[in-house]
Amino acid sequence: MIQERTMQDLWAVVEELRQRVEELENGGPPAPVPPDYIASAKSNRKTFHRRGCRFTGRFVNLAGGFQEFESRDTAVAAGLTPCKSCGA
Ligand SMILES: [Zn+2]
Repeated sequence: MIQERTMQDLWAVVEELRQRVEELENGGPPAPVPPDYIASAKSNRKTFHRRGCRFTGRFVNLAGGFQEFESRDTAVAAGLTPCKSCGA
């Protein structure tokens, strides 16, 4: 069963890459700019981070594990505190 799951995961990756190649061959869609600031959706510590901050590693890959902010101001307006580590 474990192997079956692994194969499914691999095929999902292959399919994703195939679509990506197709997009690139077609000139590619305009790359959506992801919001630069994110915060854990579950943590009680209301801190937001720059994307790529090492402290986002725990939640950034979880579905629904984080919320995104278009700008620093938006995050601050939502009552969040900038992370000191990444200088958000
Ligand atoms: Zn941070």
